[in-house]
Amino acid sequence: MQCDILTLFPEMVANVVSHSIVKRAQDKGLVSIRIHNIRDFSDDRHRVADDTSYGGGSGMIMKAEPIFRAVEALGHERSQLRMIAPSPQGRPFTQRLAQALSRESRRLVWICGHYEGLDERVLIRLEPEEISLGDYVLTGGELPALVMIDAAVRLVSGVVGDPASVERDSFAEPLLDFPHYTKPRTVRGHQVPDVLLSGNHEAIRRWRRKEALRNTYCKRPDLLQQESLTQEDQRLLSDISQERECRGGTPVSPREGGG
Ligand code: SAM
Repeated sequence: MQCDILTLFPEMVANVVSHSIVKRAQDKGLVSIRIHNIRDFSDDRHRVADDTSYGGGSGMIMKAEPIFRAVEALGHERSQLRMIAPSPQGRPFTQRLAQALSRESRRLVWICGHYEGLDERVLIRLEPEEISLGDYVLTGGELPALVMIDAAVRLVSGVVGDPASVERDSFAEPLLDFPHYTKPRTVRGHQVPDVLLSGNHEAIRRWRRKEALRNTYCKRPDLLQQESLTQEDQRLLSDISQERECRGGTPVSPREGGG
């Protein structure tokens, strides 16, 4: 996975990609991340890359020409690039999209907007995919780009030691993850469920499946798709609905965006 991040705030991005799994993925040569300061492509002697809005208004707009030059300086044909403009107006980012990005053979070019956003001619000429993190407005495209890169990098083959751990993550299938416990066995009176200490692999598998279903039933019932549930899932779900134990929450109210 090869990423180029075009930004007015390179330090902000550089700091985040130099830690944890994203850093290790680069060290192993599985991922490359190059950061480009859009100001370096300004023809203004003060390296200004934004200006006031035609038609008036208080916010600044990111100029188109420095972005065009930054893209050209990558030295690739258009067909070799997959350009992405993080935007609250874009299609929603999902785990499925993260998977697609993790397998992308073209260079991923992230054009990070700031202030009031990009001059519209960036979108008209470069036709980047606009992708949104959600229905809220952030200060800039840097955090969304980093979120998307983080989600995709951990899905690149070889990045996470045990591939099974990403395969069972929330949303890998349309289910949330099951609960996890670590040592010690008792924390302030709260015990690890006995089944996890039993050594009985089949009982543990069944418990985890049931608790993944319970998490989804309680927290994100909109994700439960009957057609993808096995007969065992249907039985477990019927038990769950009778047990009425929603640890960690009751179904989210639609007003808070729970669907
Ligand atoms: N005026 C723009 C609008 O209302 O659509 C919002 C501009 S926002 C303050 C500045 C930049 O932050 C955007 O160009 C985009 O790159 C990024 N951004 C803000 N919210 C976002 C979101 N929900 N998802 C992805 N990017 C976002």
